[in-house]
Amino acid sequence: MLVELIPTLMEKQKQNGGYLGEKEILDTACDCNLSVSKVIGIASFYEFFNLKKAGMQTHIERIYEKKTKGNILDFKREDAKKANEIAKEIDVLTLIEKSGLCGRSGSGFPTAKKWEIVRNENEMEKYVVCNADEGEPGTGKDRIILEEVPYSVICGMHICAQIIGAKKGFIYLRGEYEDLKEKIEKTIEEFKSDGFEIIIRLGQGAYICGEETALIESLENKRGEPRLKPPFPGNKGYLGKPTVINNVETFANVPLIVTEHKSYEKTRLFTVCGDVMEPGVYEEKSGISLEQLLIRAGGMENHSKPYAIQIGGGSGNIVSGKFLDLKLSEEETKKINIRIGTGSVYFISDKEKLIKTILERLSFYVKESCGTCVPCRSGLSQLRMLVMKIEEKDFDNDDINKITELIGYIEDNSRCPMARAAVAPLKSVIKNFPEVVGL
Ligand code: SF4
Repeated sequence: MLVELIPTLMEKQKQNGGYLGEKEILDTACDCNLSVSKVIGIASFYEFFNLKKAGMQTHIERIYEKKTKGNILDFKREDAKKANEIAKEIDVLTLIEKSGLCGRSGSGFPTAKKWEIVRNENEMEKYVVCNADEGEPGTGKDRIILEEVPYSVICGMHICAQIIGAKKGFIYLRGEYEDLKEKIEKTIEEFKSDGFEIIIRLGQGAYICGEETALIESLENKRGEPRLKPPFPGNKGYLGKPTVINNVETFANVPLIVTEHKSYEKTRLFTVCGDVMEPGVYEEKSGISLEQLLIRAGGMENHSKPYAIQIGGGSGNIVSGKFLDLKLSEEETKKINIRIGTGSVYFISDKEKLIKTILERLSFYVKESCGTCVPCRSGLSQLRMLVMKIEEKDFDNDDINKITELIGYIEDNSRCPMARAAVAPLKSVIKNFPEVVGL
């Protein structure tokens, strides 16, 4: 009964007024046929399980409002139903490939290629997973999609299941978004088909579960620790079977591509935040410039020019505010080694705020490191202390050299992409803002 461990803990915590006492742990261990230490090990990994009497914890930053709508947020429920039918008659994979759709969560991997790998696996059992564990600092677009057009996501999952031959799928929903669960369940029911079922699993407050293999471990009721890759989930994913795992926005694009394939126009949801007048989620054409996006968001709070801009989420690179004419498309950003990632764009008004942002990001990753490997666990804490010295203007060249060495050590010796993501903003500041580090 290992499969039921996390839902059992959730239920017991709920029944016990918000925490897991000795009795709940013991009962769960018996119910699931596991040792008490195994149950405690898993419960203590997740922030939402309380082993002491305490209130519900949350690390949600803020909930963003939708500001502008485009093809994705305007898509109609009836069109999603049509897309499901049309997809049975046409070569969807070729359409998706031609559309150039890439993952909208971080790595930007081509969607058609990912699906093709799983389709070509010679296994009877395959899975579709929607990663709705939106925990990246400065990102709130997946929540808006699930609020506005949940049917597009469900439809995208059904089409994926048809193509790869999956009978079961999961939506791994961020724990803080529990209020959306009922609405999504109703939509799942509405789109139900005989051959494919979708189950919602609530995350339990561990940021690392946004990483695809950690998410799969969590689905399997284990601590959400990333797996070594290869093998990749496309070959060995959930329960060791081929699994497509895509982000909410990626799935939401699929019915659009199917119904509008000739006129399909790529849009993206950008979460615009930082020192701007109107932070929020803006759906805009792919290729919009940073300057246009800033204008949409009402400009900078102090009516000045931005000093720095972080692109792609809390782990994105930070570029000079002079890059306002940069066009936000995969092709253009790739030229300067930047990923659009989650589509978050964070405008920073001055040098002090830039250092503060770097410290906040590092503190976040120190807290969210799963602790499996030393370079990530201890290296990030050391980096944070060195950046605090920069903030206090009490640093010298030795400190900057130590920062550079530590970044290299963490990048080369950590097990999963989170550690590399955690150091990316600081690395880009050293490169792009020599004045901040006194070089
Ligand atoms: S790099 Fe960090 S988050 Fe990734 S496995 Fe190692 S300790 Fe965990």
